Amino acid sequence: MDYFDPETMFSYYTEESRIARKNRKCSECGEEIFPGNRYLHFRGILQRKWYVYDTCSKCKEDWEMAIDFEWTEGTIYGGLMDVIEEAIHEELVEKNDPLIQRWTPLIEKKQKELEQKRISCPLQAIGLK
Ligand SMILES: [Zn+2]
Repeated sequence: MDYFDPETMFSYYTEESRIARKNRKCSECGEEIFPGNRYLHFRGILQRKWYVYDTCSKCKEDWEMAIDFEWTEGTIYGGLMDVIEEAIHEELVEKNDPLIQRWTPLIEKKQKELEQKRISCPLQAIGLK
């Protein structure tokens, strides 16, 4: 799987560990990050456009594990779910691994959302929009 190196791709970026002061949504798992919880905040400029990603501490751990297991070479913000999904699909994850319990419902939820989008925009579904 490809990954990006923020240092070469972004003309400017910052990445810092923060404590949430208000509710936020994790860019990876889509779960809520509650006030008082630590998260990783990334923002960077790529081709004159700002990109912002908030990553909850659980996803940050899963990222590190995915890199340790060489499921991916690095971080792709917004790409953790794909990495985990591929690892599960390729049976790189043991059946009783807590990772499966955590990610399976999240992956199903995302697939349902994508399905919904396709239904609500039929032109997009056949590639006209
Ligand atoms: Zn998360």
